[in-house]
Amino acid sequence: MLPAIHSFHAHIYYDPASNRATAAAVREAIAARFLVRLGRWHDLPVGPHPRAMFQVAFRPDVFAAFVPWLMLNRAGLTVLVHPNTGRPRDDHLVRALWMGELLALEAATLPETESTDVMETEPNTAPRPDG
Ligand code: ZN
Repeated sequence: MLPAIHSFHAHIYYDPASNRATAAAVREAIAARFLVRLGRWHDLPVGPHPRAMFQVAFRPDVFAAFVPWLMLNRAGLTVLVHPNTGRPRDDHLVRALWMGELLALEAATLPETESTDVMETEPNTAPRPDG
């Protein structure tokens, strides 16, 4: 049986020295259009992520509108989209899709399993009708 997808993350990578403003514009555009949970800015690599990034957590019913929009509007930024099924290592290394480059993740930081109970997807955006 296929595992259930609890949620998805899009990780949007940027370079603090050269294109943080581009990432900010993409972030603003996402907030204006989609019911998602925007994570903090990480100007330093964190966890498995080899570059600065911010995370966008979203529920499966947002995927069909949001991911195609990102394909067209990522402004040259590298993006990782991965499912959250309770198996972080597979979700990041085997089941992910990439836009732009394919970056090498720090696999050692990814546990085999984790509880889906702790995954926060409560939206913190307020999309505008004209967004
Ligand atoms: Zn993630």
